[in-house]
Amino acid sequence: MAAEICGICGGDGRINNSFGNETRCPSCHGTGRRSDEGGLRDVTKTKPSHHKPAGNAAVAPKQQGPATAGGLLLAREVEACATVSADTKAKILREIADHEATHGKCTETFIKKVRRQLRPPVR
Ligand SMILES: [Zn+2]
Repeated sequence: MAAEICGICGGDGRINNSFGNETRCPSCHGTGRRSDEGGLRDVTKTKPSHHKPAGNAAVAPKQQGPATAGGLLLAREVEACATVSADTKAKILREIADHEATHGKCTETFIKKVRRQLRPPVR
């Protein structure tokens, strides 16, 4: 099957741009032929129906907090703690979520470790 003539430039590989200058055809790259060697193959397969409708696939943001009962309990203790800064609280809450993600729950050791951080610093 012979190569098709480029439909953009009509086969001469050049087009006139809006300034009246001749420029190389962006579709055939100056060859005047359509999708002969790589590039724009399978143009006919690109149908609009292939494109997913935009807007209905909003991905819910991944939950960034404790999810287990133990984690939520611990998170409440962290929130109620008056001796640590909001930054530290956020950090600990992230650690709880991380720990849950890794272990599937809050282990006793981890809960103790977190509670230690909630204590006022020793002088
Ligand atoms: Zn062309």
